[in-house]
Amino acid sequence: MTTDLEIYARPTPDAAFLVLFNRLAVALRLMDPDEGTVGVYFDVLRDLPATALEAGADALMKETGRRFFPSTAEWRTAAEVALTRQRQRALEPDAEHDPRAWVCCSRCLDTGWILAEDGGSLKCSGVLRNGTCQCGRRFPHEAGMTYTEACSCRASNVNWQRKNRTREKHR
Ligand SMILES: [Zn+2]
Ligand SMILES: [Zn+2]
Repeated sequence: MTTDLEIYARPTPDAAFLVLFNRLAVALRLMDPDEGTVGVYFDVLRDLPATALEAGADALMKETGRRFFPSTAEWRTAAEVALTRQRQRALEPDAEHDPRAWVCCSRCLDTGWILAEDGGSLKCSGVLRNGTCQCGRRFPHEAGMTYTEACSCRASNVNWQRKNRTREKHR
């Protein structure tokens, strides 16, 4: 059963909102915000996502010439602007967030060939084991000869497979 009191009671600000409100209050030197004030802001702004409220608060803090705590309407506007921007960004993913740009294997950076730690070619130790160096040479030689080694990720590396699909077909 809902009583009149419950209808008119302000919702209790959640912890995340309190943190945000206090941060903004400190930044804009709002002295002693009482519980009622926080409640009013929460009531007006709570339908907006926390990320938008936070981005809106950040924008207000950085606003040139702002000295006073924003009104509920100002914060709401700033949050809505931030929300629109966040949605636009979600619609046009940049290279950084493009799953196709992800590197599957850090050992070969999806080239299919293992890379040295500096990103260059592998260089051998020049040590013969059972007559063969890791570079494949079967005669004594100095260390530091370059060699290649196929990366074991090929069977599961979708990026490498995509790049090498055409080549595989013609084999
Ligand atoms: Zn690999
Ligand atoms: Zn070697």
